[in-house]
Parts: sequence; structure tokens; C-alpha cells
Amino acid sequence: MQDIVTYDAPNAQGRGGARHLSAVLPAVSAALGAPVSTRVHADAAGLQTALGIPSARSVLVVLVDGLGFWNVVERKGHAPFLRSLLSDSANSRPISSSFPTTTATALSVFGTGTCPGLTGMTGYSQINPATRELSQMIKFTGGLDPLAVQTQPTVFEQLANAGVRVTTAGLYQFKNSALTQAALRGPKYISGPNAEANALAAAKATHTPGLTYLYIRDADKMGHQYGWRDEHWVSAFETVDEQLRTVVSRAARGTLLIITADHGMISSNPDTRIDIAEHAELREGVDVVGGEPRAVALYAREGASTDEVNALAERWRDFLGSRALVYTKDEAIRAGLYGPGELMREDVRAYLGDILVLATGDVTIVDSRVQTDMATRLPSVHGSLTKAEVDIPLFMDVL
Ligand SMILES: [Zn+2]
Repeated sequence: MQDIVTYDAPNAQGRGGARHLSAVLPAVSAALGAPVSTRVHADAAGLQTALGIPSARSVLVVLVDGLGFWNVVERKGHAPFLRSLLSDSANSRPISSSFPTTTATALSVFGTGTCPGLTGMTGYSQINPATRELSQMIKFTGGLDPLAVQTQPTVFEQLANAGVRVTTAGLYQFKNSALTQAALRGPKYISGPNAEANALAAAKATHTPGLTYLYIRDADKMGHQYGWRDEHWVSAFETVDEQLRTVVSRAARGTLLIITADHGMISSNPDTRIDIAEHAELREGVDVVGGEPRAVALYAREGASTDEVNALAERWRDFLGSRALVYTKDEAIRAGLYGPGELMREDVRAYLGDILVLATGDVTIVDSRVQTDMATRLPSVHGSLTKAEVDIPLFMDVL
């Protein structure tokens, strides 16, 4: 497991601070000559310098869902373009994703340049405090309103307000999706009939100065469905590499290309899977199980006292041993899991589990009472803080 990655300064392992997903768009804003400061990152120009990002009139940021740094390194034989980027010393070190290492949380951190304690998007699923129903945070099911939860301005919005052209190229179905509204609102949204058409549209957009954002989904999807070591994933990875080459060949000369991701992936192991439904000592006192198999949020029975919650945490710790790190809500906030504790929005506390469970190794913690059988047996997963989940690429090149 990595140490907890800090937003304001690097941790003992040199991760975090500027080398963090939250710093990418603020640094890019400075590279475009329109520095945006956020509640977490006040000095966009300082981030640009720390990351070694050159200034440019046109910047193309590509986010490849689920493409962790170590996933790329291990499979680089299949991706000539990414391999050539990786061989550049400027690209040889990863940056860090958020906690949890999950799409909704990471994209809100990326889009706003802040932290989950401010965006309110604290995991794959979290409770709606009004109803105690679970809300899946990509689609905002369960009655949570994307604009009421995610109140931070996005970097895209702030750049657009400053008169910078900002364009997103993505799939049509994501144009007005809850996640787009919450985390990535602001740009002009262009979309073609398929991923390849989106890539071409993004390339075309770079010919006008400003920021172009392209989102590529398929590697993550194939990873969850077949596992990231499976040939389906490799084939998707090869296609992503091809799409990147196409974009680059059609983009305006002098465009600054940045490639990053929201999180990496690990292979799960059926032998280390723990099903809450099968263990009374895990079930007892837990009202709702949220989060996801690598980052579980436990909501205690309503009205549970602090002593009861602490006892529940202790019971989970005893049962899991080295298979997971178990934090109470206060411990998690104090440790900085959701960003600098002093920045945490008061209303965000209610979304967090009373207990947060971070799986180690290849352990998954599922609940067959409420999750589909398929969801409890995904061959590749993410959410926790191992290197393979946290470390993401920050590849850059001037075209
Ligand atoms: Zn993702």
C-alpha cells in the first residue's frame, strides 16, 4: 500500500503535491497563460513549473479511463506510441490519483483541481443522507443532485469565463450525464458516432488556440469485464494507442499533448474475496454497505453512538487483519484521505461511511446481499491505495 497521498505537499514516497491528478488542469491553465487557482492549489504557475509543463497556445488533454501507469509499463509492448512517450525521461514517473481510486471521485478531483472533501463525490457509491439510500456517483442514482453535491467551480468553467476556448470530445451519451454536469461542466461538447470520430474531432479542435479534452473509456470497460491481463483488454489497449496516434497525426503543430488517467487497475483473486453476507461479525451493526469492493464505506445503524461505531471498527479490524486498513470517519478525515482536513465541507461528512475499509493486496470485500453476482466477481478492480491503483501517467509531448 502507498502512504496516503497528500494534496498540498508530497508524501514520504514523493507522491502528491504537484504530482497529483488535482494539479493537472490548474497547471494546464497556467500553460495556456490563463492561470486558474483552486481551493487546494492557489499557485497554478508553480504547478506548471513543478510538473515541467511547457507553455502552449493549444493544449490537448486526453484522459484514458483505468489506464494506470504500471498497466502501461507492463503492457507497453502492445502500444508503440505510449512506449515512445514512456521512454522520455520527463514521462518516466507517475503522478497520483485520488482516494478512492475510482472514476467518479477521480474525475471530480481532476475537473475541479480540488479534493473529495470539497467535491462531495467521495466514492463509487455513497449514502443520500436524506433517505439513507445508496447513490451510485457516476449516474447519481438514489436522489442526489449533481449540482447540489459538487459545488466547486470546474477548471473548464473558469477557463471559459476567462475567454479561453474549451472543448470536450466524448461520447454523445456523456454530453449531459450527471458526472459531466458535476465534475466536467463548462466546455463546448462535441461528439461523433464512435470513439474514433471523437478522436478526430478532438484533433480538429486543437487547430484553434485553447484547451481540448478527450475522454477514452474502453480500457476500463474491458478491464472490468474480462480482466486487465485478458486479451480483450490488450486489444482495447492497442486500439487506444492507435487512436492516440491518429489524434496526434491530425492535431495542430505545436499543440501540447497531455495523457493521464483516473486510476489504475489490479487483478482480483477469487481466493481472497470476502463476502460480508457470509460473516455475522461483519454484518452486525452495519446498516448500509457503500463504496466498492476495494474501498468499502460502512454506514452504521442510524443513531449508533461513537462507542458503538468504534467497536464495529475494532471488530472489522480483528476479522480482516492485514487484509485491509480500517479507518473511522474521523480518522480518515484526519489522515487526509479526502484532502486537507481543514478544507472539508461540513455537509460532505454526511456522505462518508462511518467506517472506511481499504483493501490491501488483491483482496475484495463484497456484499452478495445487495450486489449482483457479477459485481462481486469483477476480474479487475480498483479503489484502494496500492501502487497499481494510485499511480497514473502524466505523459506529455509537444506535437
Ligand atoms: Zn475509471
